[in-house]
Amino acid sequence: MKIGILSRNTKLYSTMRLVEEAKARGHEVRVVDHLRCYMNITSMNPSVQYRGERLDFDAVIPRIGASVTFYGTAVLRQFEMMGVYPLNESVAISRSRDKLRSLQLLARKGIGLPVTGFARYPDDTEDLIKLVGGAPLVVKLIEGTQGIGVVLAETQQAAESVIEAFHGLNANILVQEFIKEAGGSDIRCFVVGGKVVAAMKRQGKAGEFRSNIHRGGTAELVKISSAERQTAVQAAKIMGLNMAGVDILRSNHGPVVMEVNSSPGLQGIETATGKNIAGMIIEFIESNAKAGNTRTKGK
Ligand code: ADP
Ligand code: GLU
Repeated sequence: MKIGILSRNTKLYSTMRLVEEAKARGHEVRVVDHLRCYMNITSMNPSVQYRGERLDFDAVIPRIGASVTFYGTAVLRQFEMMGVYPLNESVAISRSRDKLRSLQLLARKGIGLPVTGFARYPDDTEDLIKLVGGAPLVVKLIEGTQGIGVVLAETQQAAESVIEAFHGLNANILVQEFIKEAGGSDIRCFVVGGKVVAAMKRQGKAGEFRSNIHRGGTAELVKISSAERQTAVQAAKIMGLNMAGVDILRSNHGPVVMEVNSSPGLQGIETATGKNIAGMIIEFIESNAKAGNTRTKGK
């Protein structure tokens, strides 16, 4: 097969591993920078051009960074219009990049979630706090990544000041029940093709409630329960993602989903579990990449 990887950087671990495994399994593989792609939009013969040539793939693996979701998903949508098989579809990626839309979709289908409120201009901060069960609680910037903009407010007063501070910055925020019993750890479930193929537990450094590796956390292999497995598989399915990193907290009311990531990194999970996830992704593409086998075709 001819496989294209949409990635801005050929030196990233995830990109390199996917290239390596695709080659090892006998495929022709090429990394293209989606921001360098340009397109004609015609109903008869849509194409994607790259440095003067037309790109011709059987399947594409999108590795589109959060900061370029808009243009990256437009390029992917164009491939879908050409009938190229996308590992994850453009609509599903856009959906997963919107935290509120994702939480609303997951809630609608009964997935366990931390009790969450959201607001832009909370005139009634007290009521917003009450809505999620009072302090301690977590306040999050909706646009945050890597744990930045995630604050634990231990008291009612602290919660009010943090919410008001974000309010002063005109930021969209989530106010969330603090899952204390998670003990500063979360579970990353790596889903490929409707199965959890690997799972790791990430633990924040001492005194830190955020488990992000970027915030000094560490990762190790973990055995997950069947409820956790089911939650992860369901969450990926609801988002419409063939591949997803589903982040779960172990709460005293069962597994709760914090986030579903459409471009989960491979380094942490392959290192923590010793599994060949990149190889599993290529295998999944081999069995599913028939021309035109996309549900949305960018719709
Ligand atoms: P980001 O998308 O920036 O990583 P998250 O919402 O995933 O932000 O939060 C970062 C980390 O903070 C999580 O991995 C988790 O360890 C911790 N955390 C986030 N929300 C909660 C919560 N409601 N209760 C307990 N811990 C939380
Ligand atoms: N049904 C629409 C879609 O598939 C909206 C659902 C959503 O918010 O993702 O895109």
